[in-house]
This record gives sequence, C-alpha cells and structure tokens, in this order.
Amino acid sequence: MNAQDVLEDAQQRIRELGEDAGIRADVVEALLHPDALLETSLRVRMDDGSTRHFRGFRCRYNSTLGPAKGGVRFHPNVTRAEVQALALWMTVKCALVGLPFGGAKGGVEVQPKTLSPMELERLSRAYMRSMADFVGPDTDIPAPDVYTNAMVMGWMADEYEAIRRIKAPAVITGKPIALGGSQGREEATGRGAYLCIRELARRKRWQPDKLRVAIQGFGNAAYHVARLLQDDGYRIVAISDSKGGIYSDKGFNIDSLWQEKQKTRKVRAVYCEQSVCQLVKHDEISNDELLALDVDLLIPAALEGVIGPDNVDAVRAGTIVEVANGPIRTEAEKALCERGITIVPDVLANAGGVTVSYFEWVQNRSGYFWSLDRVRSELETFMKRAFEDTFRIADEEQRSLRNAAYVLALRRIGEALAAHGTKEYFQNGEFGHDS
Ligand code: NAD
Repeated sequence: MNAQDVLEDAQQRIRELGEDAGIRADVVEALLHPDALLETSLRVRMDDGSTRHFRGFRCRYNSTLGPAKGGVRFHPNVTRAEVQALALWMTVKCALVGLPFGGAKGGVEVQPKTLSPMELERLSRAYMRSMADFVGPDTDIPAPDVYTNAMVMGWMADEYEAIRRIKAPAVITGKPIALGGSQGREEATGRGAYLCIRELARRKRWQPDKLRVAIQGFGNAAYHVARLLQDDGYRIVAISDSKGGIYSDKGFNIDSLWQEKQKTRKVRAVYCEQSVCQLVKHDEISNDELLALDVDLLIPAALEGVIGPDNVDAVRAGTIVEVANGPIRTEAEKALCERGITIVPDVLANAGGVTVSYFEWVQNRSGYFWSLDRVRSELETFMKRAFEDTFRIADEEQRSLRNAAYVLALRRIGEALAAHGTKEYFQNGEFGHDS
C-alpha cells in the first residue's frame, strides 16, 4: 500500500470522527497538519571507502500535551508521508494512554540488512547529527521502531551528547540498560499487547488453551506477545517474517523458534526438550495465507496496511489485535466491523512501548532507576486504565474500540487546547477572576 494513501487514510479518520463525535473544529484542524517536518540527506562512509546518501525524515506532529515522542524506522519503504502518518498515530496513542507527550516519528529510507554493523553505526550517528537541533529531551524524543534496536538508540544518544557536550540520556528511549535504558523496555510493546488480550479474555470469558493464534511478523513486539500468550496456554499456530511464515496445528514453542531465528535469521520450527533441540517439519505459508487463517486471534505485528480491500474478505479470525501500527485500512475495517470481528486498535494494543519509554524518560530526568517489578506493575496500571477507558466509551456511546480510543484521545487534546481559550470563550469575552 502506498504511503500517501496511509496518510490520507489516517487524516480522513480524524475528519470523520470529528463530525461523528462532535469534536471541535480547532482540534480536528490541529490534527490535520504536522507541527514540523524535517527531511535530510545523510552522507555515510561505506566500508569500501565510497560514500552513499540516504534520505532521513523526522516529523513532530503535535506537541499540545508535551514533548513529541516517537520511534525511528530503518526500512526501504520509509517516506515522508509514512513518517507523518505514524507521527499522527503516536499523537493519538500518547493522549489515549494519558502520557504527557505529543506525537512524532522518524525514519531512514534504507535496507539495513545490506549494511555492515559499522555502516549501521555510521548511519545511526549521521541520522542524529542531522537531527540534533530538531530533537531533545524537552522537544522531541526518539525511540526504536522497525529494524532499529537498543544499540542503535545507544549510538544516537552518544552522538547527541557529543554534539551538545553534555550527558543527556533523556534525549532518546529504548537505550541499552548500561547506557540509562529502563528495565522492561525491550518487552514493553509485547507485554502491553498481552495485557490488553488478558483483559479482553476476561471480558469474553475465553479459555486460553482452547484458542488458536496467528502472528504476522516475528520481531521484538511479536516475540514478546507470543511468548507471554504461550505461557498462559494459548496455541500459537502460525508466525511469519518478511520472507514468509510457518504453520503447525499443534502450535510452536516460541522460545526455541526465537533462538533459532536469532542464530539463522530464519523462522524455522524447532523444539527443545531439556538441552536437545530438534528441527521439526512444518508447513510453509505466505504472509497472505497467514492473514486468512481460520484462527481465534490474529495479531498483525509487522507493517501497516496489510489488510485492505483486496484481502479483507479472506480474513476469518474472530478477533484482531493490532500490534503493528496501522495494519488495517479504513475501508477494510468497516467490512470487518460489519462481520462482528473485534479489533483492538494499534493506539491501544501497542501503547506498552511508549509507556515504558515514558518511564525511561522519567528515570533519566530524575536520576533514579526503577526495578523490573515496578516497571511491570506501573505498565499494568497504565494499560488497564487505557483499556477500561476505551471500553467504557465504546459501551456508553456504541462505538467501535478504535473510534472510542480516538474520541478519548481527541477530547484530551481538545481540553488542553481549550485551556488556552476557544472561539466561544473569546467571542463571549468571559474572563474569570478570583476576586
Ligand atoms: P522489528 O524490526 O523488531 O520486527 C519487524 C518484523 O516484521 C520482523 O519479524 C520482520 O521480518 C517483519 N516484516 C518486515 N517486513 C515484513 C513483511 N513485508 N511481511 C511480513 N513481515 C514483515 O520491529 P518491531 O519493533 O517488532 O515492530 C513491529 C511493528 O510494531 C511495527 O509496526 C512497529 O511500528 C510496531 N510497534 C513497535 C514498537 C516497539 O516498541 N518496538 C512500539 C509500538 C509499535
């Protein structure tokens, strides 16, 4: 799906919801235009001595509720429009969870798999050099996203500190723990999604050992949600990566699959009994086949726009939990809702990552570090509150979960904008005085 369509889709949703939920025009207008957008050319010395240029982007979409916050993606399909759409979703997500952050996103148009580790370090540092005046602990705080990780964040933080000649760990989150990262950040997105599924299971009276789950993607977010669901008894019958997927009706052992993926860079079914590991025969499936499996729970955890008008009729899952950002296009969502399929929206399901990023930022600014237990317990508090708030609005106002989540977020941003005065306030000239 073309990134311009993803952006138009995201903005159209804001317009429609504005009308439908009576959101003030100034709030809708504020969310249709990004605050600032920077496009840079990153010059990187390659290992063979040549230089290459890569396009880098950063979008600060909206800072009404606080400094902008959002990940950096290294992917060949990164474009200015994609970065804007992702930054808009971050704005909604932070408001929904009640974080004192606005939304941002960044990216580099690159296939990182073709770079050596040293080229990747030089690219990460070049990105931060080009963005050093645009980001900062009080303005815009990057974090990991697709094909970036803790080490990349560490290089970027180091570059920022070298330019500013200060220690400023709060400029970036998702850092290695040794460089001021938080306990529990790596698992946070998957754990947040798992907490949503646990609450949903309670509401729907699910028996986890009777449920079959398919997961698209097998990166950071997918691995942790898969592992936690498996611990609760769910059967993970399919998983995939960019090259394709595997299926087993008996379900996979997620940890052995993960270890094998780390060693071989491939998704291959492996079972470990004590210390003996065995490669097991399995059915190979395509990513399209995975999305069409007859499962109870489908978790897209890779890229946006994977369920659209062309393949929506093939989807047979009863519930979809969006761990990826924007995996379902608006037209497809309407069809899924008409068929009674429950969709836990991305802005709620994957909010665990930015929530623990917020904890990391708080720890960096206070200079006091939390235990893993504290991080997990605070994450549970934030996720449960966002989940319950979303369900309450959905029940009270007869809305889909996504509409409810957006309405809540837009109302919060609206309250902050109204605190500076609205059209009605200035027209009526009612100035309140204490005396
Ligand atoms: P990651 O780089 O760790 O993993 C990405 C996964 O997607 C890999 O398994 C990759 O093989 C797979 N993939 C890539 N292209 C694909 C394709 N065309 N078809 C199928 N699979 C493909 O990234 P991640 O951090 O796990 O992010 C995954 C999703 O979760 C993204 O949409 C991201 O925006 C979202 N997300 C991540 C975080 C976070 O904290 N990491 C937070 C919120 C949302």
